[in-house]
Amino acid sequence: MRRAAMRKRTLLIPDRVWTDGEIHRGWCVLVEGERLAAVSTRPSIGDVSDCETIALPGATLLPGLIDLHSHLFLHPYNETSWDDQVLKETEAYRTARAVRHAEATLLAGFTTLRDLGTEGAGYADVSLKRAIEDGIVKGPRLFVAGRAIVATGSYGPARRNYRTDCCFPQGALEASGVDEVVRAVRLEAAHGADWIKLYGDYRTGPNGETRPTFSQEEMNAAVATAHDLGRPVAVHAMTDEAMQRAARAGVQTIEHGYGGSRETFALMREKGVAFLPTLTVSEALSEYFRGYVPGESDPTESMQMAARGFRNARAEGVTIGCGSDVGPFPHGENARELAWMVRLGMTPAEALTAATTVNARILGRENELGKIEPGFLADLIAVAGDPAADIAVLKQVSLVMKNGAIVRAPI
Ligand SMILES: [Zn+2]
Repeated sequence: MRRAAMRKRTLLIPDRVWTDGEIHRGWCVLVEGERLAAVSTRPSIGDVSDCETIALPGATLLPGLIDLHSHLFLHPYNETSWDDQVLKETEAYRTARAVRHAEATLLAGFTTLRDLGTEGAGYADVSLKRAIEDGIVKGPRLFVAGRAIVATGSYGPARRNYRTDCCFPQGALEASGVDEVVRAVRLEAAHGADWIKLYGDYRTGPNGETRPTFSQEEMNAAVATAHDLGRPVAVHAMTDEAMQRAARAGVQTIEHGYGGSRETFALMREKGVAFLPTLTVSEALSEYFRGYVPGESDPTESMQMAARGFRNARAEGVTIGCGSDVGPFPHGENARELAWMVRLGMTPAEALTAATTVNARILGRENELGKIEPGFLADLIAVAGDPAADIAVLKQVSLVMKNGAIVRAPI
């Protein structure tokens, strides 16, 4: 019985299929169980009399989108400050919110996320991932990081802003010295982290300037330990120096990179380190704290830095994935990141490739995610119109399928 149910066949008939940078008109997609069985013109697919057929007139079918930098356990800072979320919201409350965030993300067409740290909510991401996999709640396929690892005193809530006679929670796990860093990586892996997330710099300068945190030795030890455990490493780095240390240590991805020089991006290319530009979060924080008004204001300094980093990365030919840092801005609005990539010079096809093929490769899952090809997992979305001509159509997702199951159906 179970086997028969798994073999359910569905034929999707859109106007076009977009996959791996190319548009194919008149293609249909046959889904069998949780995987794609055939992708071709209607006549060459063969007998489909046993299939459920879904017509998608006017629509483009594309692979489920992937966002490689999310925080499901955060909500926008114009609702509640980051400090108040970490200090005053219980893990149970934050998990209840995260369930809603995960569903909103999936319904918006993002079928896979790499969630880079619960920001003080412990290992609730590991449990959320399990609940999604068990079919208890709806959400994207998750790759999780548990607690991020930070150098002692190099994260928030900042001690200088609070009473010093009581201890209070931090948004990440603190470690100093090779022994502690190695221990921290092992703990995260043991608790179920798929990726190890490190903060390479933070606002620790005398006047709140961003400074490198982990030494090269600590960074090297963390990466070596993570790799021994089969875990790739993602590093938050805003400064050129922290990016250099991360690249030299052999991490897999560098997040943000707003202060990255051409030389550093060239080093990243040489070392095969991918870049996640997180352009949207810079816009969101500028709106909340710098009075930025989209469409009216000039870009803030932080937005200009983010744009410069992105352009330097492109000029040096670094692998650029799509990672938005959603959480500070509303879950389900992840596609804003692709719109920013296009605004700053990518073609829509390049941005879509970043959020599908490239991101799947960064995850090491390029053989089953990010493309519409036979044998791949049936993660599909349909949008009205042609996203390769106008990236804004990603806001109108009419169908979402994950693992061959329809989670959002056309009305
Ligand atoms: Zn982040």
